[in-house]
Amino acid sequence: MFYLRMEKIKDIIYFDYNSTTPVDERVIEAMIPFFSSAYANPSSAHGFGKLLNKEIRTARESIANLINASPEELIFTSGATESINLAIKGVAEGYSGKGRHIISVLSEHKAVLDTLKDLESRGFEVTYLPVQASGLINLADLESSLRRDTILVVVMLANNETGVIQSLHEITDIAHKFETLVLTDATQAVGKIKVDVIDMGVDLLCFSGHKMYAPKGIGALYINQKGGKIKLIPQVFGGGQELGLRSGTLNVPGIKGFEKACEIAVNEMEKVQQHVSNLVNNLEASLLKLPGTKVNGISAIRLFNTTNICFHGQDASVLIGRMKDVAISNGSACSSSIIEPSHVLKAMGLSNEDALASIRFSLGKYNTQEEVEEVSLKLFEIVQSTQEYAERL
Ligand SMILES: *Cc1c(COP(=O)(O)O)cnc(C)c1O
Repeated sequence: MFYLRMEKIKDIIYFDYNSTTPVDERVIEAMIPFFSSAYANPSSAHGFGKLLNKEIRTARESIANLINASPEELIFTSGATESINLAIKGVAEGYSGKGRHIISVLSEHKAVLDTLKDLESRGFEVTYLPVQASGLINLADLESSLRRDTILVVVMLANNETGVIQSLHEITDIAHKFETLVLTDATQAVGKIKVDVIDMGVDLLCFSGHKMYAPKGIGALYINQKGGKIKLIPQVFGGGQELGLRSGTLNVPGIKGFEKACEIAVNEMEKVQQHVSNLVNNLEASLLKLPGTKVNGISAIRLFNTTNICFHGQDASVLIGRMKDVAISNGSACSSSIIEPSHVLKAMGLSNEDALASIRFSLGKYNTQEEVEEVSLKLFEIVQSTQEYAERL
């Protein structure tokens, strides 16, 4: 039964790497010893525990290295959602004496927006910056929204739906003039492009294993320790692991897999960038030949693996439904069971109709040129047949 299902999976063309990635075989291999042989609790005081503690230490070094951080600046969590919750609520509770105002952006991931909504119900005030048609915020808007009681600015590095990359170092320069902390959700950027916490000057940054060929359920939060300690209030209490900021027995296999994925990302970044950006460029060029198509966020610098295309006059969910065995999405994975126009595309000024006519293609290192050709061919056939149908009506 399971075998049959696996056979079916083989035929799927997967263009949805921004929702999750397969685990690299080398990552799986690196994890295996930590399930049944090297299984001790790294917090245990005995020799076996200490061995594992050392394994965690080397993993923390490799993972921190990917973002140019120091190992003691990384906290392991279950993923980006948890890191975001810890960072936002941790700062809100730690700095409520200074103020209760937070600035973020309309096109953030739901993990950010819903955490902020929760804080609003608890007496915090949030300013949501709009974005331009490019998907970028206007830096002057940020500057004019900052106040003496602003404790945190939250702006994502690369958008999961459009790939649009914000200029984080300019954002931190402005926020720091007001002595306000900056958190960036770098979940889509880390592992794909060079991310340097020092260059960007961010105070907090989150990322996640399963967006970069490591397993689901492991992530990290970077907390800058250079400019004096950031006062984060923990959200999970217990054994005091992770400097008391995130209690709970460490996910050792996950962390070792994450380590391997980070090492692979460093070593193979250029190779993957070249391969995947070629594929995405070809896909874009081919789909843009269809009348009425355009790339959302075309004028911004975007992630090389992502293209979000509006098929004006079409219903994206119908197109996706007819593209059997192709994994593509409209909106983000979290909200795709309800068909609502994407809040990201709406923030960029798209009408409901155009937002509902848009599809995100997010490719990864295992995709091929043959798959790109097959998907564009299928889309051509489907779009042209619906257009002919519409003309006959
Ligand atoms: C996937 C994603 C998240 C959530 O990450 P999890 O590890 O699944 O919790 C948050 N932000 C962005 C931009 C993402 O792409």
